[in-house]
Amino acid sequence: MKQFRNFINGEFVATEKKFEKRSPLDNSVIGMVHEAGKKEVDAAVDAARAALKGPWGSMTIAQRVDMLYAVANEIDRRFEDFLAAEVADTGKPRSLASHIDIPRGAANFKIFADVVKNVPTEFFEMATPDGRGALNYAVRRPVGVVGVICPWNLPLLLMTWKVGPALACGNAVLVKPSEETPQTATLLGEVMNSVGMPKGVYNVLHGFGPGSAGEFITTHRGVNAITFTGETRTGAAIMKAAADGARPVSLEMGGKNPAIVFADADLDVALDGVMRSCFVNCGQVCLGTERVYVERPIFDTFVSKLKAGAEKLKIGRPDEKDVGMGPLISLEHRNKVLSYYRKAVEEGATVVTGGGVPNMPGEMAEGAWIQPTIWIGLGDDAAIAREEIFGPCTLVMPFDSEEEIVARANDTTYGLAASVYTQNINRAHRVAGELEVGLVWVNSWFLRDLRTPFGGAKQSGIGREGGVHSLEFYTEQKNICVKL
Ligand code: NAD
Repeated sequence: MKQFRNFINGEFVATEKKFEKRSPLDNSVIGMVHEAGKKEVDAAVDAARAALKGPWGSMTIAQRVDMLYAVANEIDRRFEDFLAAEVADTGKPRSLASHIDIPRGAANFKIFADVVKNVPTEFFEMATPDGRGALNYAVRRPVGVVGVICPWNLPLLLMTWKVGPALACGNAVLVKPSEETPQTATLLGEVMNSVGMPKGVYNVLHGFGPGSAGEFITTHRGVNAITFTGETRTGAAIMKAAADGARPVSLEMGGKNPAIVFADADLDVALDGVMRSCFVNCGQVCLGTERVYVERPIFDTFVSKLKAGAEKLKIGRPDEKDVGMGPLISLEHRNKVLSYYRKAVEEGATVVTGGGVPNMPGEMAEGAWIQPTIWIGLGDDAAIAREEIFGPCTLVMPFDSEEEIVARANDTTYGLAASVYTQNINRAHRVAGELEVGLVWVNSWFLRDLRTPFGGAKQSGIGREGGVHSLEFYTEQKNICVKL
């Protein structure tokens, strides 16, 4: 049986308390995860502090940059190991993980190394009454030990999206991967050792949230800042924990993202975008669409084409040819998603396609498989229109005017992302400007330039990540004023 251990001070650390990691494909146990307790979190904080005071803290930016490039190159060299680990934990298609998860996992180290290498700080020359003047210049310093709390949907990608900039800025990290996806974070420990990363810079602590590693990290006063991706409810709990000691948080949280398809849209472009945003990664993408608004003249056509697309998606094992959708992350998550499938019907939705569990052969019948699902016939008040489900499902609703649709799209406590499909350039800019979200795509979805600000408005997030924006969280700016 595989053992997934904690990684503390450059060593793999076993613990007495363990929990099972099960495969989403067939619910078989694929390994035992060693759960970190208070003792392990204390040891990781001590190791991180020592690294900051020691070799890591005294490295030049150029040396850190070289180190991060070496990490990225080593992930690339061990691409197949990372791919196998991510696919085993999540059940997602290999084609998806090999195009997105693992390459982005490596790229996240390079991009932030480049940012840190090139970013200037500000300088102001100042007049003083004595005529001599003063010079102000800002310097950036690491915030210290950063707690990194991660979700399971894009494990390596979302973890390195935080660890990359944190290390580029000279911090040390305590990473808590999701209990569902322990493997790639653990594997990254091997990478850190093989490139000679100083001990204690990168630590991994396995476990759950309350009463486990998540809580022990976020409540630890030796942790200077906490960055989190996950559900909004969890983010709020972490914010409360961080209030003790007035420690900064960066939160990337849930969404209920709309796609808006105007009648003048290029239908193929809109269908391609909406298909992907609803169903890729089995609907488990924070930026995914669970509300599709289609202008009335093309509503019926759009729904029937989306139905045809969903029914063509091949559900299967990660390495099957042409597979378009894997299982959900776990049976527990499937129970949650299926509860919404039932609620939709109870509230009177028409199920256009899906709505249940597909028939899977052999032992796969035990896995967390689910059908891609499309509903119509309910309005904005329905639970499936308001609450984040995080599955391969969407409610499609008609609309009649631009003013109406902006108001309806904004009528939510969330504000992560939206996509707008139209060929009217003025309308595209107008609507994009009015949507209360952190990210808008026009005639596309999930097209990412990693230098741009990424994050959510309203209850979808606090702070922005990406390019120089990540530096706001991972560094403390200090102004030095020199009187001449
Ligand atoms: P989750 O909130 O259940 O868990 C996320 C992490 O927090 C896990 O590692 C978990 O163990 C830990 N945790 C839970 N309770 C905790 C506590 N009290 N203290 C400390 N740690 C705690 O989220 P999930 O189910 O893993 O991920 C899915 C959610 O993540 C969805 O809501 C999705 O929208 C969101 N998400 C957002 C983004 C984004 O960029 N905005 C990206 C991906 C996922």
